[in-house]
Amino acid sequence: MEQKLLATIPGTRDILPEEIARWHLVERTAQDLFERYGFEEIRTPILEPTELFARGIGADTDIVGKEMYTFDDPSGRSVTLRPEATASVVRAAIEHYLTRGGAIRKLYYLGPMFRHEKKQKGRWRQFYQIGAEVLGSDHPAIESEVIEMLLALLARLGIEARLVVNSVGDARCRPAYVERLRQELLRDLSPFCEDCRRRAQTNPLRVLDCKVESCQPHIERLPKISDHLCAECADHFARFQSYLRDAAIPYEVVPRLVRGLDYYVRTAFEIVSGGLGAQNALAGGGRYDGLSEVLGGPPISGFGFALGVDRLVMVIPEEVGRRSEPKPDVFVAYLGEAAFRRGQEIARRLRHEGFWCILTFGGGSLKSQMRQANKLGARNVVIIGDDELARERYPVKRMDAAVQTDMSLEELLSQLRSDRT
Ligand code: AMP
Repeated sequence: MEQKLLATIPGTRDILPEEIARWHLVERTAQDLFERYGFEEIRTPILEPTELFARGIGADTDIVGKEMYTFDDPSGRSVTLRPEATASVVRAAIEHYLTRGGAIRKLYYLGPMFRHEKKQKGRWRQFYQIGAEVLGSDHPAIESEVIEMLLALLARLGIEARLVVNSVGDARCRPAYVERLRQELLRDLSPFCEDCRRRAQTNPLRVLDCKVESCQPHIERLPKISDHLCAECADHFARFQSYLRDAAIPYEVVPRLVRGLDYYVRTAFEIVSGGLGAQNALAGGGRYDGLSEVLGGPPISGFGFALGVDRLVMVIPEEVGRRSEPKPDVFVAYLGEAAFRRGQEIARRLRHEGFWCILTFGGGSLKSQMRQANKLGARNVVIIGDDELARERYPVKRMDAAVQTDMSLEELLSQLRSDRT
């Protein structure tokens, strides 16, 4: 019986070996850089109790309202594939007392997130984020330092991006502003889209990040949160900006920036990049001082961001991406079974010494093996035939210089070592 061909679920995909070099480049660069800034990796479960996100992200957000992969597990408990990781990191901090004794913890994570979003270029239902969170400090200098680190990562990857910032106020000043916004919206809802009309009632702040074209001129006329901050939030925002200026980080204040998650207070920011089309946000983040309490924990200040890796790999310039593609040190070409066995021995030794060595099974003609070596970009090809077996000296072809020299295995090793330094 002919079987139906199975394929990935829409919005998910395979990341193939052909494209993995860019992913590794992003992940390794981030890990290396973040550790220099004093961040430690944390890995939290992909599956979490649904309530973590319902409470942590906010019931009237698009994520919780319509995008979560939620189901009952076999024991009847409602679980969700994480749509983001900040709530999980804060849960972990509470569960393991990570900030006990007033400790400041700098944590980063990387991994897949799941949101059942409308399909669009740059939007996936399983996508990957790298994020960093600082727990235990409400200092605005932390915010500029975290942003500096994120921008340094993008710079290392050759990506040009813009920083936009805003303050979304806090529990003291935001409610009055939201009420003001609601009143203003309710005065005349007719020019707004259906979603905005609903949001005017349920969550007026969300109107500000509506993307519908016809809503834009009307949103521009709405009151701005920056004109309604309390003295503490205004002072925090001014200090944050002064630290950005100290670090020579260019930025733009965008009063409409509110972000899609309810837990943000005070500083919110986004990193946007040209070349991404409508989904131009590469990263977003902000301060979430109340989140721990919402999750049943003690007060723990927090500030962090999440960076979309899928989008990032799309904008890494060609030459940076190419540089990251690793090349084998040695390709071992052989003719005949005895030479193959010697080849295995040589490959074993080279690998043991830390070199990347390719030995194919099945061999083929010398010409076809050379073609393969070329395709893989191998730096050297060792050729083993009957004569070489007896002499224990092998022609080694340096592919970039197209020169060939007879060498013993020890001579080859010392050449590889000196090439490496
Ligand atoms: P958020 O967690 O919504 O603040 O998103 C942070 C970043 O994750 C965004 O700026 C995007 O780069 C990325 N991101 C969010 N949702 C998706 C998605 N569905 N597909 C791909 N990337 C996404």
